[in-house]
Amino acid sequence: MQKEEGLMEKITSLAKRRGFIFPGSEIYGGLSGTYDYGPLGVALKNNVKNLWWRMFVDSRDDVYGVDAAILMNSKAWEASGHVSGFSDPLVECKKCKRRFRADHLEGGKKCPECGGELGEARQFNMMFKTHAGATEDESSVVYLRPETAGGIFVNFKNIIDTFHPKLPFGIAQIGKAFRNEIAPRDFVFRSREFEQMELEYFVNENSWEGAFEEWRKDMVHFAEACGLSMDSFHSKDIEAGDLAHYSKKTIDFEFDFPFGRGELWGLAYRGDFDLSAHEKGSTVELKYSDGEGAKITPHVIEPSLGVDRTVLAILASAYKEDVTGDDTRVYLAFPSHIAPIKAAVFPLLKNKPELVEKAREVYTALKKKVPQVMWDDNGNIGKRYRRQDEIGTPWCITIDFDTLGENPEQKDTVTVRNRDTGSQERMPIDTAIEMVAGGVSLYLQ
Ligand code: ATP
Repeated sequence: MQKEEGLMEKITSLAKRRGFIFPGSEIYGGLSGTYDYGPLGVALKNNVKNLWWRMFVDSRDDVYGVDAAILMNSKAWEASGHVSGFSDPLVECKKCKRRFRADHLEGGKKCPECGGELGEARQFNMMFKTHAGATEDESSVVYLRPETAGGIFVNFKNIIDTFHPKLPFGIAQIGKAFRNEIAPRDFVFRSREFEQMELEYFVNENSWEGAFEEWRKDMVHFAEACGLSMDSFHSKDIEAGDLAHYSKKTIDFEFDFPFGRGELWGLAYRGDFDLSAHEKGSTVELKYSDGEGAKITPHVIEPSLGVDRTVLAILASAYKEDVTGDDTRVYLAFPSHIAPIKAAVFPLLKNKPELVEKAREVYTALKKKVPQVMWDDNGNIGKRYRRQDEIGTPWCITIDFDTLGENPEQKDTVTVRNRDTGSQERMPIDTAIEMVAGGVSLYLQ
């Protein structure tokens, strides 16, 4: 395990200070395992989700998107095995009554908090339970979905009936999932409410291996496109003995987070387990007709990616410190298509109306092409650069007296400052706008 001391604290504090991620319900003392994304966090998260949707759905002609309800008929979770089996082994300290995941305790039978004696492991179901409607009895029990995949399988027949896809084809969904984690920890790595990007790719049984390899490569490509540090990105084949009974192959993509190595995403071959289980549970046929009279239950490959863990891996990969003497410049080296703000526009001085007016013109022209831009006229230019560095803005564009024509040769040119190198370049306004727009659309064409 590689650990970087202090990096987690630096990231958590920057995320809060600069409006990426706040602790949930903070003014009420918080709610463990929940986080609120601020303006920059939501922009970052949207960029990740849009990139995934672009690469896994829109760029293909065999993947269909859905947005299913979070609340589902409980029978779906009975059929999938979540009601009886979606649980973690839990032990309780007999003295302080704290509970811990048995599989997370490193050796010993003593409580890590108070040293008390631990009880026997019990299974604890991780689904959040609530009631639909006014009566609170067993018949009205519903669960908040613990994964988005369930909403995909229950729509298999709808997609077949409305779009008549040919095998292989996929159904994709992005959305919230809820797990009553016993020990939420490590910032947004393990929370109780999080988002997933999942895809079920239905194949003929005899062609699962080719499809698995294709999605494996696409997931690596997605990691690169997110700007993840690829030295910290690993794929681990789950050993045969640890595979779920229906799976012939599963890969965990792991990442060296600042707190150590942990699962980032998963890729699983799940056979026909899910469709068969839902067919049995619902008594509705969930088969594919090959057009020549044969009906088969397709097998499925499942790439499953957590949005929040991706965001954390992006923050950890992007966090950089430039130390000169006793001065430390902190910046987030996001790829431009991931950065929440693509460019900031500054008038050199805010008390010169002619500079402000020209800067507003540039800002408006840029914003028409690239909406995620920021206006900043607060404090001196050096301070503005530092602020933009900390939020990972790739370019800062300054409008000065030369832009206005004080030096006729420089009229309508601006200074563009690069976040990573700190270097500054003089260029025409149009060129600056094209440069920002070009960098942003790199992965989005
Ligand atoms: P873990 O072993 O870490 O609990 P898991 O194997 O249960 O994870 P999956 O059920 O495979 O996770 O879920 C798919 C993805 O959803 C994970 O790879 C991860 O990115 C994300 N994820 C799962 N649980 C959480 C959580 N509590 N908080 C944030 N993201 C999560």
